[in-house]
Amino acid sequence: HNPANSNFIRNIIKEDLESGKRNHVITRFPPEPNGYLHIGHAKSIVINFDLADEFNGKTNLRFDDTNPVKEDAEFVQSIKEDVKWLGYDWDGLFFASDYFEEMYNRAVLLIKKGKAYVEDLSADEIRAYRGTLKEPGKDSPYRDRSVEENLDLFQRMREGEFGNGEKVLRAKIDMKSPNINLRDPVIYRISHASHHNTGDKWCIYPMYAFAHPIEDALEDVTHSICTVEFEDQRPLYNWVVAETEMESVPQQIEFGRLNITNAVMSKRKLRKFVEEGIVDGWDDPRMPTISGLRRKGYTPGAIRTFVRETGVSKGSGFVDSQMLDHFVREDLKLQTPRTMGILRPLKVVITNYPEGQVESLEAEINPENPEMGTRQIPFSREIYIEQEDFMEDPPKKYFRLFPGNEVRLKHAYFIKCENVIKDEEGNVVEIHCTYDPETKSGSGFTGRKVKGTIHWVEATQAVPAEFRLYEPLMLDEEPEAEVKADVADVEVKEDEIVEVEKNFLDRVNPNSLQALQGFVEPNMKDVKAQDKFQFFRHGYFNVDPKHSSADNIVFNLIVSLKSSFKL
Ligand code: ATP
Ligand code: MG
Ligand code: MG
Repeated sequence: HNPANSNFIRNIIKEDLESGKRNHVITRFPPEPNGYLHIGHAKSIVINFDLADEFNGKTNLRFDDTNPVKEDAEFVQSIKEDVKWLGYDWDGLFFASDYFEEMYNRAVLLIKKGKAYVEDLSADEIRAYRGTLKEPGKDSPYRDRSVEENLDLFQRMREGEFGNGEKVLRAKIDMKSPNINLRDPVIYRISHASHHNTGDKWCIYPMYAFAHPIEDALEDVTHSICTVEFEDQRPLYNWVVAETEMESVPQQIEFGRLNITNAVMSKRKLRKFVEEGIVDGWDDPRMPTISGLRRKGYTPGAIRTFVRETGVSKGSGFVDSQMLDHFVREDLKLQTPRTMGILRPLKVVITNYPEGQVESLEAEINPENPEMGTRQIPFSREIYIEQEDFMEDPPKKYFRLFPGNEVRLKHAYFIKCENVIKDEEGNVVEIHCTYDPETKSGSGFTGRKVKGTIHWVEATQAVPAEFRLYEPLMLDEEPEAEVKADVADVEVKEDEIVEVEKNFLDRVNPNSLQALQGFVEPNMKDVKAQDKFQFFRHGYFNVDPKHSSADNIVFNLIVSLKSSFKL
């Protein structure tokens, strides 16, 4: 039993079923379509779908689309694609905006019960009246409006009589509650904006705190799993379910957010990368988005395993990105073909190899998975090797090529460095070697040993390719994580956000992308988008689906071969 793997939510559900409190399980994944999903969302997806699956329940995909200004159909589309790609199939597909009429009616019910009122104070005044943790709030002068007046004003809000921010609807709970969330939270606001689903039908929109519990209850969600920053909202969640007289009573359960080292995860910040042109879209391979990880070459299986291994607890710590890389390597090891690619080419001429002759050598596709068979690679008088595999004046323990030294060419022959050709400035431009035909790979040659084995690509048939190497986008191992519940426009102070954003953009890694122009084996010329390979001595690479073409194959580095990471 691995404690990191425990899941306290599973125990709650189990008890609910055993005690008869519940006779079925329905969970939901409720993204707001205001950006692309990131790996934090993957955690929520895996938790919700896995738990329902374990207890023969159902999981809905519900778009929590109650804020018309930030949401877009493009995001709806990408979210569906990402959930499917992760390997999950939702039961119901819902939009919170489809419940607007129902929510409106429930708000009217609250007004009739004397549990909600129309507020005329401005957002700043509301905040000032709300008090602080140490100081109780003060009642608004509009708190005691009559039911009739509230009904009339709320209807006129709906009809568009007032401008943005002129009025809001507030739940009437307790301005002196020690829980600030219960100090008459705003539950409806005016926003004259077109909505991606309902168009111009509405100009008032429910706030998250009011909408979310109603959405859950309408869908008969039993366990409403969300992240810890909503913990303080739970009493409000329960208040809304009870006071709006929902038949079905969902239970909110919070777990700790997933954060990954050297990455920021909030959609607000990720959007900033896109808007500022720091990345080439939400699917840039450096982004911690699902689409970015996919484009970089990560597999859904590795992401699922990683997320499961991080466990489910109340704490939101940072998880080392190397742990994810570890699972990616594990997943790719047996399924990806091995091949050779030269990232920084240096020409080698094998002077004793017959001019014009090309021979074909056989090489295993994956020595760890012999079923993958063999491939043919050409060999001739001219090849490319890595610049770093030659040194004119090497330190001790450098076993690669240097004048007079002999190395093994993987799958081919021993070659010995005889001569170094330089340009006028003294840069090494070409190496002249001789080869020993006796040493052919697979011939059983045992005459002498060499210490270094290097990779190469035959020069006349080599296919040009671009290699993109990535480093994390953020310099800081633990960039400031999103802590505030992103629930209410009136709660969020825009100037604070701007401040945080300015700071995090200063901490972007200027070396996060390095593009190299090199060569690959000729059998690689027909690779397709998303094909994955292990380049000998380099690592795993994915064919970029956006920029790779027949003329310019682009490989994204998924992960290098080795890591010091231990589970
Ligand atoms: P962001 O701040 O990145 O926009 P969010 O919580 O506002 O995140 P939603 O679209 O509302 O994004 O999230 C859908 C679900 O995914 C929610 O239940 C949310 O709690 C969960 N979720 C979001 N980020 C993480 C994370 N880092 N770890 C675990 N779950 C997350
Ligand atoms: Mg958000
Ligand atoms: Mg949200």
